[in-house]
Amino acid sequence: MNEVRKVIIIGSGPAGYAAALYNARAALVPLVLAGGKWGGQLMLTTKVENWPGSNEGIMGPDLMEKMRQQAKKFGAEIVDKNVTAVDFSKRPFEIHLGGVPPAGGPPSEVYLAEAVIVATGAEAKMLEVGEEKFLGRGVSTCAVCDAPFYKDKITFVVGGGDAAMEEALALVKHAREVIIVHRRDQFRASQIMQDRVLKDHADKIKVIWDSQVAGVAGEENLTKIVVENVKTQAKQELAVDGLFIAIGHKPNTQIFKGQLELDKKGYLVTRWGDLGNFPTQTSVTGVFGAGDVVDFRYRQAVTAAGFGVMAALDAERWLEQQG
Ligand SMILES: Cc1cc2nc3c(=O)[nH]c(=O)nc-3n(C[C@H](O)[C@H](O)[C@H](O)COP(=O)(O)OP(=O)(O)OC[C@H]3O[C@@H](n4cnc5c(N)ncnc54)[C@H](O)[C@@H]3O)c2cc1C
Repeated sequence: MNEVRKVIIIGSGPAGYAAALYNARAALVPLVLAGGKWGGQLMLTTKVENWPGSNEGIMGPDLMEKMRQQAKKFGAEIVDKNVTAVDFSKRPFEIHLGGVPPAGGPPSEVYLAEAVIVATGAEAKMLEVGEEKFLGRGVSTCAVCDAPFYKDKITFVVGGGDAAMEEALALVKHAREVIIVHRRDQFRASQIMQDRVLKDHADKIKVIWDSQVAGVAGEENLTKIVVENVKTQAKQELAVDGLFIAIGHKPNTQIFKGQLELDKKGYLVTRWGDLGNFPTQTSVTGVFGAGDVVDFRYRQAVTAAGFGVMAALDAERWLEQQG
């Protein structure tokens, strides 16, 4: 049978690597199951300017490589594979990797752990019109992160909920023009957010109603979008510097369904509000959650990393209590 690890961390974004660094420095020799696409969301971007201490900014993939090496340096082990299933109903916890096991047969790869930190992050929903290749080069899913790059530029926001309003309000401080493209003839955002956008910034924020972005174009950077009216199917090609997609996020919690409590949008629930001893603990004692897989509000690299540190300290202290 496999050795039982003290801590296994699932996920390798800022939350996972920060947790790994702390648990490694506490001599817990954590194993990071980093996923096939290690490094998380910052691997999809170019310059990160809001990572504290990096005065000149740092490229997202470089930052993640540095975090990975720092965790390794202190003894974290890293396996770049996806977790496909977990069994948190028994101790030690079971974490399964690899393909689907043969019917009735044992799974191909199993790891055992006394404590687990779930840091599988979230993914921004995309339009799926080819915009992903322009991520970090004209396409963004985070105005708080990227709005300052669009000073005096023409920007578009896609969406109609509170998140889209927040993106528009973050952009309006920098951009020359902010145009919201929305599929319906009214927003579903809260009234107060709508008022801030439509009334307080009527001079700079415009809306194209009943419309969707049906295409994108550009060489290295995004330069044009095709906006289609969903009622008349009329299309127009518009020049653009920045396209901000705010149609929602999907937490990576599929494999935890039935194992851990999730909220109605699928985010992992932790005991944060309970002010218990271990605020990052999930519904299963000994399983902790951190980063964007829990946090649908702040969604920043530095908040995810801080959250990872909290989970690592909670896991460490919880393990100490187990004796
Ligand atoms: C394009 C873009 C630009 C951004 N720019 C900035 C910025 O400038 N500044 C900023 O602060 N924030 C930025 N963000 C937000 C920031 O990247 C996230 O808030 C942060 O990465 C969240 O970290 P995390 O560790 O919680 O999760 P993630 O970064 O999402 O990492 C989760 C990891 O878990 C892995 N994983 C998922 N499922 C499994 C599984 N089953 N098994 C194993 N591994 C799994 C994934 O492969 C991934 O590596 C940006 C986001 C995007 C998309």
